[in-house]
Parts: sequence; C-alpha cells; structure tokens
Amino acid sequence: MPTKDELFYKRKSAYDLASEEDNAKSEEYAKEYKSFLDNAKTERESIKEAVRLASAKGFVPFQRGMELSSGSKVYAVSGGKAMILAVIGKKELSEGVNIAAAHVDAPRIDLKQIPLYEEADLAFFKTHYYGGIKKYQWVAQPLSLHGVVIKKDGTAVNIVIGEDENDPVFMITDLLPHLGKDQEKKLLGEAFTGENLNILIGSQPLGEEKEDNRVKFHVMSILNEKYGITEEDFLSAEIEAVPLMGARDVGLDRSMIGAYAHDDRSSVFAILKGILNVDNPSKTAVCVLVDKEEVGSDGVTGMQSAMFDNFMEDLCDSYGVKLRDCYRNSFCLSADVCNAYDPNFADVSEKLNSAKLGYGMGVLKYSGTRGKSGTSDASAELVALLRKVFGDNNVVWQMTQLGKVDQGGGGTVAKFMANRNIDTIDAGVPVLSMHAPYEIVSKLDCYMTYKGALSIYEQD
Ligand code: MN
Ligand code: MN
Repeated sequence: MPTKDELFYKRKSAYDLASEEDNAKSEEYAKEYKSFLDNAKTERESIKEAVRLASAKGFVPFQRGMELSSGSKVYAVSGGKAMILAVIGKKELSEGVNIAAAHVDAPRIDLKQIPLYEEADLAFFKTHYYGGIKKYQWVAQPLSLHGVVIKKDGTAVNIVIGEDENDPVFMITDLLPHLGKDQEKKLLGEAFTGENLNILIGSQPLGEEKEDNRVKFHVMSILNEKYGITEEDFLSAEIEAVPLMGARDVGLDRSMIGAYAHDDRSSVFAILKGILNVDNPSKTAVCVLVDKEEVGSDGVTGMQSAMFDNFMEDLCDSYGVKLRDCYRNSFCLSADVCNAYDPNFADVSEKLNSAKLGYGMGVLKYSGTRGKSGTSDASAELVALLRKVFGDNNVVWQMTQLGKVDQGGGGTVAKFMANRNIDTIDAGVPVLSMHAPYEIVSKLDCYMTYKGALSIYEQD
C-alpha cells in the first residue's frame, strides 16, 4: 500500500528544493534585477532598457520581409512603451511559438495636462493617478518625476528629476495627526481623494511683491531654463510621479527585495533575460512587453492592440504561414505577479490555495472575480504540460489563487492572449504589499520565475 508521503501532495519551500547552484545564482540574479528596477521606473524607461539589453545581445529591429533563419534575433518597439522580441526557432511557425508576456506599466501618479497652479504661496502639480492605488500610501513620501514633453514641433524633452542624490524630490502633503480628528473618522477609501493628490513643487516667489502667481512664475522659470518648455508644453507631456526609493534587500537574511513595481517588472526582467539567453530554440520564442495592463490593456500599446497580431502576421508571412495556424499551436506564459499569503491579513486568503513567499513561482490557473468571471482559465491539459516542463527543468513552483472566493479579484493580460486562440496560463512572482509604492518579493522566487520563463521558451 502506498504511504502517506506517496499519496499526499505537499508543497515545499523553494529553500528546501533549490540546489546550491540555484541559491547562488539567485543572488547574482537579484543584483541584476535590482539594477534593472533602478534604471526602469516607468514603462518608457523599461522599454528603453530592454532595447539596450537586447541590442547588446545581438537583437536587431524587425522589418517586414527581412530575411530570417533559425537563430535570428529580432525586436519591434511600439510607441516607446511596448516591445516584442523573437528568436526564430528550428520548427515551422505553423507548429506554433512559445510566448511569454508581461506588462511594463505600474501604478503611479500622472500629472494632468494643465498641472501647474499656485495656492497660498505654494506651487503644486495637479495629478490623476494611474492604476489601482491606495491613495494614503502616496502622501508624505518622496517622489521623483519621470517623463517626456513632446513640443509642438515634435521634439522630445526627457525629464527625470529626483533620482540623482543632488536632485530635489517631490511630495504630496498629509494632514498632521494633531488636527486629524475628522479625518480619522473617514473610511480608508474616502479619507484621501484623487483631487487632493497634488504634488508640492515650490514655495519661493519670483518678482515684485505686487504681482500675483509669483511662486508659479518661479517654478515655470526654472523649468524653462532647464528644459526650454513653457506651461503650454504640458498639454502634450506625459510626466509620472513614482516612488523615489530604489530597490534594496529586505530582511536580516537579505532573502527579499523591496522595490517599486515588482508588479510587473519582476516578470518583465525574467522573461526578457530569458529570451536574451535563448539560443537556437526548437520553436520560435517570443517575448511580449506591453503597457496599459493596470488600466485594462486597452490602447495601441496594450495587449488588446493589433500591434501583437501585426508583428506575428509579418513574421508568419515571411514563411508563408497562416497566422491562425501559428496561434492555434502556440503557448503563452502570461507572466504576472500573484498575491503572496500575508499572515497579517490572513482573513482575505484561503491558506491551502494561496502562494507563499519563498515557495517558488506562483501559477494561477484562473483569475477573475465572483464565480471566475473575466478569466480565460487555463485548461487542465495546459497545467499538466506546465507541471511536466517545470518539473523537467527543476523550476520550483506552486499553484495559487487571488484571495478567498468572493473577496475581490483581478485579471492580467492572459485573457487577451487566450482570446486569440493561444493556450495561455498565468504565472509569476508572489508579492507582499502588491501595488504599494514599495513591494516585497523573494529573491529565490524571482530566480525561479526566470528559470520558468526560460524553460517555456525552450519547450519542444
Ligand atoms: Mn500585474
Ligand atoms: Mn497590478
């Protein structure tokens, strides 16, 4: 008769399963990942960094009709905010491709198109937050400004203020507790309003006492001197306030990384580094870095855009293959973070089916809300395939779900891939404090996600 050990499924810590080599490599990997995070704080910067890393590895811009052969490495960028990379495989495209997709955007505070105003001798930027944030987390902490101003003549002015230690930083003010009697009684979601998330940018007037808007004038003069812009130029600008704090080790054992935007740059870096290290794969490997996931994957640079189909169709055309044949036989790893079980908020999770920090890559068969609404739900066949591929490649992974039934929910780019008739499953790094300005992940989980991505690209 089989023993209990043989009959029962037991999830094990990645620390008990990973080899010594994996442990050492995860530390190396963490160093590279942290530096990627510090160089890529926005979607545009993530793509810029990805192009730089890919070019160094011999990837060249893809052009329709260009000559391709097994081992060719190409990429295409869309609007500076999305990118597709491919390494041509030995097999026909009609046999399908192995895709990994992740999103480069993250929750943040965007400047409005007419942002600058002065009130009570203080200058502020008005903002409109992007993605799902808990507003109270963004006040009273240093922020940096990143973005681009496109002038009327089309020239781009890149702006990064705050990252250099000699730069000034920016803040959204909070109320002092001494006067918080009324604020304390408000619901968490109502105590801080979107229209009050105004970024303080100056307090010193310029000009004569009798004039008005002297602080605004001072701030605008500085911007004009440094960047050659006027207030009107903000109309065609995309400027984002992001948390200043860079990536750091967390914990006395340094087993974790704290940083802004592990969601989803832990996946971006894993699938990017994965494709950079793929050589002569059996099937063509495709890495998709998209924007706008946090707001529904719409728009030209989102996963719902035809940008992806166009790229794939151009690739298929080069080989006289029908796009639908390629899609039908393809596999997609929708690489996105999952929620790590937090004992401090145990009541929102169901322990048996929740990812744990340090237990490897989290695989999400389905996402969605209330009765699995809005999920593509990977098939049992697909999960079985993943068990095999990850097992063969010593990828430590765990099955997970997003919280208790009816507690809330969410989605990823998975369904937009699956709707194209591409078999898709979600998997990624378990995160503590997801969507907070500073999120926490385990180094070993990050490394396992990289190994997982690589094993997908190298599938037969
Ligand atoms: Mn995500
Ligand atoms: Mn997210």
